[in-house]
Amino acid sequence: MSSTAPRTHIASRTAVFNESVIREMTRLAHLYGAMNLAQGYPDFPAPAFIKQAAIDAINDDINQYAITWGSPRLRQAIADKSKRFYGLDLDPDREITVTCGATEAMMCALLATIEPGDEVIVFEPFYENYVPDAAMSGANLVFVTLHAPEFRFDPDELRRAFSGRTRAVIVNTPNNPSGKVFTREELAQVAALCQEFDCLCITDEIYEHILYDGREHIPMATLPGMYDRTITISGLSKTFSVTGWRLGYVLAKPELSNAVRKVHDFLTVGAPAPLQEAAAVAMEQAASYYPELHELYDAKRTALLTALRESGFDCHTPEGAYYIMAGFRGLGFKGDDTAFAHHLIERVGVAPVPGSSFYRTGAEGADFVRFTFSKSAETLAEAARRLSRM
Ligand code: GLN
Repeated sequence: MSSTAPRTHIASRTAVFNESVIREMTRLAHLYGAMNLAQGYPDFPAPAFIKQAAIDAINDDINQYAITWGSPRLRQAIADKSKRFYGLDLDPDREITVTCGATEAMMCALLATIEPGDEVIVFEPFYENYVPDAAMSGANLVFVTLHAPEFRFDPDELRRAFSGRTRAVIVNTPNNPSGKVFTREELAQVAALCQEFDCLCITDEIYEHILYDGREHIPMATLPGMYDRTITISGLSKTFSVTGWRLGYVLAKPELSNAVRKVHDFLTVGAPAPLQEAAAVAMEQAASYYPELHELYDAKRTALLTALRESGFDCHTPEGAYYIMAGFRGLGFKGDDTAFAHHLIERVGVAPVPGSSFYRTGAEGADFVRFTFSKSAETLAEAARRLSRM
């Protein structure tokens, strides 16, 4: 070994992705005392009923491993909700798996279904995790752009992305970062291609309960012929403002669930037991909570949209989720989106995420920064004050 360079001891699969840009912006926000509208997590309390349920669960000694694929009570609550909202008939014993967040769910889904070299189609702008997930599972990503301002895909472009090498397509609706909610017609176009090319659809529906203007969330699994080829991913983080509890889940037919469960078992054993119990209690009681959640986020969306537009940003109104892709070219800034994000953090005191971090092939992201409005009224008001002084 003496004549060659020393080994780095770093696996090549880590070389194709970098540290999270979203979390980097959070760090910069702290460093410069900027309002953190970069990372999408609530800075306000979780509902009292879910917090109390967690306290009760710990006091009731639910502190050891839950069943690997999720506590029976939580899987039943997920089945009941899926039936009530979407008419899905799921067997909690064979078709529902609880994971450590939707993040683990996506990793398990890919590791369970993708052979190295398989192609996976992703719409861009995309949630940043899909790139490292693909690298770690050996998938080659193929990107299809959702074109601004309305974030629509071109059906011909989508068709050209599919081939005999395609194993799966990832659909994230409501979409982070664009706020797009896929229509039934758009989902049907994706579904038809999945069927024609015999591939899976892996969905990320973590924002399923955060929708605006009467829009409806349509799970891909409810489209004709799609249940058997869809892996549905969601979780509790966004709906119940508990992103740090790490509770996600996977819905899929038994054969697919079985493969996902095997990966999940050896990655993490299971999600935190007392928090699963609390999640079950919360979901059982949540009927009146979902409308409150809509109202809460509707007011926050209005507050940030108004502030951004009054400050000269060009924003498409989000249809779901809690992000705004804001075009900043009208402000006369000459540099790129990363320079603009740094400028906002250091000079204005508001932290966004550079748009290009959500794109790989398209150049459209360079004209945008992403803001989240999953913040308290006070945080949003202070951010608005700072933006207005720009
Ligand atoms: N989903 C959140 C966002 O997009 C948090 C992501 C993260 O922590 N990397 O901002």
